[in-house]
Amino acid sequence: MAQMLSTNPADIAVNREQREMRIRWQDGHESVYPFDLLRIGCPCALCNDQRSRTASTLPSLTVLSGPVVKIGEVQANEVKPVGRYAINFSWSDGHDSGIYAFAYLRDMCPCPTCRAAQGAASSRE
Ligand SMILES: [Zn+2]
Ligand SMILES: [Zn+2]
Repeated sequence: MAQMLSTNPADIAVNREQREMRIRWQDGHESVYPFDLLRIGCPCALCNDQRSRTASTLPSLTVLSGPVVKIGEVQANEVKPVGRYAINFSWSDGHDSGIYAFAYLRDMCPCPTCRAAQGAASSRE
């Protein structure tokens, strides 16, 4: 798990109007996460299990069961820090068990640069 990238956020801004969260990392990189992406990428055991049944590299909202919140609608009711290593979202569909570690968030950064790196990494089976 050697990582060169900073997983320490210097600044976190949650924008409920834009429905996105912006993290500026201590190494200067900035990540913008649409709520849809965060909800889809929920790292809790339940969602992980749901996703593992579809062999997609990128999670898809269609595999989630339970209350259906369409892409473009999911809202964060509450955002809470979890210790100093993670944050927790309460989503508008009632799901709130996802603990988003900063390392995980850094890993799922949707910017083109990071996506390219992820594509190379996720080809392992
Ligand atoms: Zn979940
Ligand atoms: Zn990035």
